[in-house]
Amino acid sequence: MKKILLIQTGGTIAMSAKGEGVELNPDNWAVTLYERIPELNELAVIDTYPLFFEDSSDLNASHWVNLANCIDSHYEDYDGFVILHGTDTMAYTASALSFALQNLSKPVIFTGSQVPLSSLRSDARRNLINAVEMATTSLQEVAICFNDHVYKGNRATKMSIGDFDAFGSPNYPLLAEIGLDIELNVKPKTLLPPFDVKAAYSNELLVLTVFPSLNTEFLLRLDLTKIKAIVVRSFGSGNFPMKGEYSLLPFFQKCKEHGVIIVIVSQADFDAVDLSKYPAGRTALEAGAISGGDMTLESALTKMMWLMANYDSREEVEELYQTDLAGELTMN
Ligand code: ASP
Repeated sequence: MKKILLIQTGGTIAMSAKGEGVELNPDNWAVTLYERIPELNELAVIDTYPLFFEDSSDLNASHWVNLANCIDSHYEDYDGFVILHGTDTMAYTASALSFALQNLSKPVIFTGSQVPLSSLRSDARRNLINAVEMATTSLQEVAICFNDHVYKGNRATKMSIGDFDAFGSPNYPLLAEIGLDIELNVKPKTLLPPFDVKAAYSNELLVLTVFPSLNTEFLLRLDLTKIKAIVVRSFGSGNFPMKGEYSLLPFFQKCKEHGVIIVIVSQADFDAVDLSKYPAGRTALEAGAISGGDMTLESALTKMMWLMANYDSREEVEELYQTDLAGELTMN
């Protein structure tokens, strides 16, 4: 049987049925897990690792580093990894890890649940069994396994608060569908260089959502001396206001003068930003902005956080940002 490391980080799957926060006892959560899902033992030899017990809203880049290091230090001992994680920021952590875990040749499967494990109608049992089974396959990816679907981690996003089908990957096909059988839609990677971990992230950046009537005065007052990049969630294919007091151009110009990288992503989930399509995008290009293509917000953000921490030159960061590093970006 395959050997799997099951890493606990918290979330609803670690909550009591009363829903009063992350309540499973760190000392005996694994016992509770096996009491509820004894069949887990039939799928693999599983070791459990209580890394942290947090609502995922309280996780940050230091947790991503811990998680990456945990996988690194156990990499040779296991065939696959399952990470129990809250759904709220699961796509951020999965995206962040997809950049840090380089030349991954084993499955790293995130899962969680919408309803606590101990609740009668919990989705935890199904998600956990599926995730463990996925971790025994030949998948060489950071993935999210949820509600019988397996998504590429850095293409996934939380789509629903209330549905069991909580995730989607708008611009990327499912890696696998779990029905009577598991249908894997990926080919094994060949000739991978040795596994390596580069886990560092910078938070010297902001996300800006453009909206009608956005007060540009607030933006022009931002202290840009500490900000190295801004991910702009534009309209449609890369549009934003260009006229009168609402024009974002003076702000983009100020960013350029301060050496702040501007990345344009879209508020629309499907398809890719195309900055050549409309005057706004073309002007943004002239002001030095770069496109986030069809990346999810989670990938667009964590990729920049990761690049800024691992590369010194702005040119290199910008160039790598527009390159597909871990399958997060469709190159045309
Ligand atoms: N607030 C929870 C979390 O992300 C939600 C969940 O797990 O579904 O930790």
